[in-house]
Amino acid sequence: MAEERSGFEPELGGALRQDAVYVDETVCIGCGHCAYVARNTFLLEAEYGRARVIAQDADQLEIIQEAIDTCPVDCIAWVTFDELAKLERLRSRQKIVPIGIVGDRKPQHI
Ligand code: SF4
Repeated sequence: MAEERSGFEPELGGALRQDAVYVDETVCIGCGHCAYVARNTFLLEAEYGRARVIAQDADQLEIIQEAIDTCPVDCIAWVTFDELAKLERLRSRQKIVPIGIVGDRKPQHI
């Protein structure tokens, strides 16, 4: 019996990349730099304005690496595809603080 195909076979999309790129949205400050550098890979998600990877194979490796190297808070990393699946599951349970508010503090009235 033939092995089940995953859709990631090299003949379906070129060379298989060994690692995936992931943004830690709890650290991201939403500056948008990565989405400017690697436009086909990163997008600022609408709810909290943090960067998220929208495609793993849409920009050249060097372009993605430049985005990683120049992120001001160093929150983009290469991970294995196994780690990526776990991180994406965890992300749905993470608490993201709206940009501009530090910690759990509510705005104080003067
Ligand atoms: Fe977030 Fe870093 Fe991208 Fe800025 S460069 S939006 S801090 S991931």
